Amino acid sequence: MCQHQPPCPSADSADRESARLVAHHPEQGWSLLCNGVLLFEDTGELLPDGKIIAPHRPLAGTAVTAA
Ligand SMILES: [Zn+2]
Repeated sequence: MCQHQPPCPSADSADRESARLVAHHPEQGWSLLCNGVLLFEDTGELLPDGKIIAPHRPLAGTAVTAA
């Protein structure tokens, strides 16, 4: 799927999120990376093989609540 040179990290790489965006739909809360990973606004991911990665990062600037 990725046609970049050098190739982006594959979907099964730990570095998969550093692949380039090929589609970005902030109004729907997701982005598609060139390695086939669907990256959701909450940092959850859907891999091309159907595997789901749970959100793993707080949202920058929005997750801060007073203790
Ligand atoms: Zn790529």
